[in-house]
Amino acid sequence: MKKICVLGVTGSIGTQTVDVVKSHSDEFEIVAMSAGKNIQLLEEIMNDIQASYICVQDEEDCIYLQKKYPHQNFYFGSEGLIKIATLKEVDIVLNAIVGFAGLLPTIKAIEMKKDIALANKETLVVAGHLIMPLIKKYKVALLPVDSEHSAIFQSMNGEYHKDIQSIILTASGGSFRDKSREELENVTVEQALKHPNWSMGAKITIDSATLFNKGLEVMEARWLFDVDYDHIKVLIHPESIVHSMVEYQDTSIIAQLGTPDMRLPIQYALTYPRRQPLIGGERLSLAKVGCLHFKEPDFRRFHALELAYKAGRMGGSMPCVLNGANEQANSLFLNGRIKFLDIERLVEEAMESHVFVDNPTLEQLLDIDQWARQFVLKKVGEK
Ligand code: NAD
Ligand code: MG
Repeated sequence: MKKICVLGVTGSIGTQTVDVVKSHSDEFEIVAMSAGKNIQLLEEIMNDIQASYICVQDEEDCIYLQKKYPHQNFYFGSEGLIKIATLKEVDIVLNAIVGFAGLLPTIKAIEMKKDIALANKETLVVAGHLIMPLIKKYKVALLPVDSEHSAIFQSMNGEYHKDIQSIILTASGGSFRDKSREELENVTVEQALKHPNWSMGAKITIDSATLFNKGLEVMEARWLFDVDYDHIKVLIHPESIVHSMVEYQDTSIIAQLGTPDMRLPIQYALTYPRRQPLIGGERLSLAKVGCLHFKEPDFRRFHALELAYKAGRMGGSMPCVLNGANEQANSLFLNGRIKFLDIERLVEEAMESHVFVDNPTLEQLLDIDQWARQFVLKKVGEK
């Protein structure tokens, strides 16, 4: 029995993780889980999953739940997340929290020798230089849940690292892939939230529309697979069937294909190196799909992607600035406070105003993240 702690169990990845675990209940058990503020959904999940340790974001919710369910243990806030991610009972932490909030529990879980299944890409974007040495030091596994990175991971099975020529990340292009920059001026939140291929949480859906998501994934790949930015490429692939590829020295390209279903990479991170039937999973019929399309992204059109390569290449504190400013701007757009193209403009301005720090410590990252958010809020007159 593999004992799992799911962080962010009420989210898109979290609920799909619950599905996967329920369909293989002889192999996996969720012993601990966390939710943010959606207590109603958490209680529904608690009907299905008898986790002993549960963390919520707010103290009030924690007190309410502890009274109502005296036989389970409730925690709250970031201390609570660390508590459940480091429990003796836990073998693997599946981190499906969105944003920078996922960083601290990941670090603490690694230090307690927990394997990590990582959906929370922001953790590697801002602190890959801290996380990767910890993974080595504590000899734990870091398994990607992001579909592209799972595909790359699968395409590297049994290969030598030195034989890799390049990584090719595919991108659906998001909700606005066929729109010109002029047409992007006045797009609405509702339009941005309509992703053509994937149903995901709001933040990542907006990130997919700006292409910051792909930019974050380029940085995530750099750390996960130890490949430099000149050898990480992005291809727009509207069908989202080829989930990503690896090109080798001998010109071979190995790819992983499948229908767009996040339960597959979630399950593979839990069953690796084995494979299990994906209960309810649709088989890919290439005959039905017929045609697959690929094209190189235009960096002028997808400026966010260009900014992410820039931040990644600069390294140090710059990815943290990009990430923090983007999280704040993304949220302002979602709340109708700024326009779509303001997101990348604000991120770029934050990057330009930031005083670069080489090799930042965790404490510095916490400050820099806050600085980037405040910078964006001040720029739009909300602070
Ligand atoms: P979501 O918004 O649907 O869910 C996020 C979860 O985190 C919820 O349970 C929420 O309550 C919790 N949460 C949010 N803020 C928190 C905080 N400050 N403290 C504690 N808990 C908090 O998001 P999602 O789409 O499931 O994405 C989760 C992560 O997985 C993101 O990093 C995203 O980039 C990554 N990811 C998602 C998908 C997808 O298909 N949804 C695919 C690849 C990668
Ligand atoms: Mg992805």
